Amino acid sequence: MTQTADSDAILVFPSQGEGDCAHCAAPLYQSAFVTFKNNAIACVKCGGLENLEFLPSGNTALTRRATALSEVKYVVLKFSRARKRYERQGILARPEILDRASRECEAYEAAREAKRQASSARRDKQDAAHLAAFAARIRELYPSAPLGVEHEIATHACRKYSGRVGRAAFAKELAPESIHLAVRAHIRHHHTSYDRLMSGGADRSDARLLVTARIEETTRRWLKP
Ligand SMILES: [Zn+2]
Repeated sequence: MTQTADSDAILVFPSQGEGDCAHCAAPLYQSAFVTFKNNAIACVKCGGLENLEFLPSGNTALTRRATALSEVKYVVLKFSRARKRYERQGILARPEILDRASRECEAYEAAREAKRQASSARRDKQDAAHLAAFAARIRELYPSAPLGVEHEIATHACRKYSGRVGRAAFAKELAPESIHLAVRAHIRHHHTSYDRLMSGGADRSDARLLVTARIEETTRRWLKP
């Protein structure tokens, strides 16, 4: 629950349905709002609450905006017997203020969504460019690798920095050392018994050692121009 500065707000309460307005003697109906004027309980009319609408708490952005737009601020409080304190129920505001606040919130959301989509499209484009560059680099360094394997390796390698790596950081990913690591990882998982050894409970360093020769041999074959 957001606590905006209630100190300059007029406090409003749901009527308990008993008693009369201290100003005009009208009965205070259950669920009508009451406030205090000159330290005496006042009905909707005497308290100047006519033509105001209730906005229940919950939509923080809308509440904040409507509050900011309202010259006079009204906060609705209700006493909680269980928690023995007054709790904020919402605000009262003029209908045109609520309309305007609502429109402004929608416009803000729309702008934010458009921005989100634009940056997502930008990321997708960047990811695709990274992937293509990565794959091309693999093909360049491993001219005899099976056809299409470069895309498989690039897709896997690029997944981990998707949309999160800038141009400079990506340049490092294209360094031969990074490419060699990605290719070796691919070979380990797809062209050796490494995964089978691991799922069979082998020790990681043992498994790595056992498949080293196979990786070296495959790598040499792929490197051959
Ligand atoms: Zn009254």
